[in-house]
Amino acid sequence: MVYTIPMTPEKEVMIRTEGLRKVYRIGKERVVALDGVDLAIGAGEVCCIVGQSGSGKSTLLNMLAGLEKPTRGSVVIAGARVTGMSENALADFRQKNLGFIFQSYNLLPQFTAAENVALPLMFSGMDRAKRLALAKRELEQMGIGDRARHKPSEMSGGQQQRVGIARAFAAKPKVIFADEPTGNLDTQTTKQVLKAMLARAEQYRITLVMVTHEPELAVCGDRVVRLLDGKVVENRLQGEAEKTANREKLFVDLQEIA
Ligand code: ADP
Ligand code: MG
Repeated sequence: MVYTIPMTPEKEVMIRTEGLRKVYRIGKERVVALDGVDLAIGAGEVCCIVGQSGSGKSTLLNMLAGLEKPTRGSVVIAGARVTGMSENALADFRQKNLGFIFQSYNLLPQFTAAENVALPLMFSGMDRAKRLALAKRELEQMGIGDRARHKPSEMSGGQQQRVGIARAFAAKPKVIFADEPTGNLDTQTTKQVLKAMLARAEQYRITLVMVTHEPELAVCGDRVVRLLDGKVVENRLQGEAEKTANREKLFVDLQEIA
């Protein structure tokens, strides 16, 4: 497979991988989940990683986020070599620089929406009242300020994911990773949640790496990376005009939430 890697000036690269490889062993079986991935993702980019089920998307995201160690190769984020870090250094780096949005929201059921959003801010040294005020503002930005005192079980899936997004953005990390963030939502809710997430990333200039198996969603990114059998088979940088046109098409039938 031959393709040209779109170049990003080095100082503007937020994430770089070199020769990233991951082999899983189950007994005597070997599964090559990632097979030599070289990527450069620019600062402030929305990068969509697309591919069918089993193509290695989650494996790649987990390596980028330092959640799993690669078999070979390196990951550098904001100039720091994530793949060489000790567990403690990595935990610290993640807390300070990275945010996560999960397919299944991963909210703590015993806490309210505002408390869930405020939780990661504990490490910032901010006092509780300030954390909750900031959380409330994030929830308002996500259009669910009126749900701040609700528990996850009292909210719809779309509302829960808005809380998950507010939580990721509240600490203003350098990079946010999202693995199939709309995977549990219906089409209309998917579009609402996706639009809100893109707006936040661009407003804060946060690098967003989103995994999806849906090509129609992936074209909302500045960069579209396609995986097949653990290899990058497409790495396309979309211009503003192309991206805007793709988003207009995607969101054409969007019903804004009341
Ligand atoms: P995707 O997210 O694109 O659906 P994954 O990254 O989850 O794909 O998986 C890529 C390949 O690696 C698949 O063949 C999958 O079965 C395998 N795989 C993923 N995680 C593990 C694991 N923990 N142990 C063994 N095999 C795994
Ligand atoms: Mg996956």
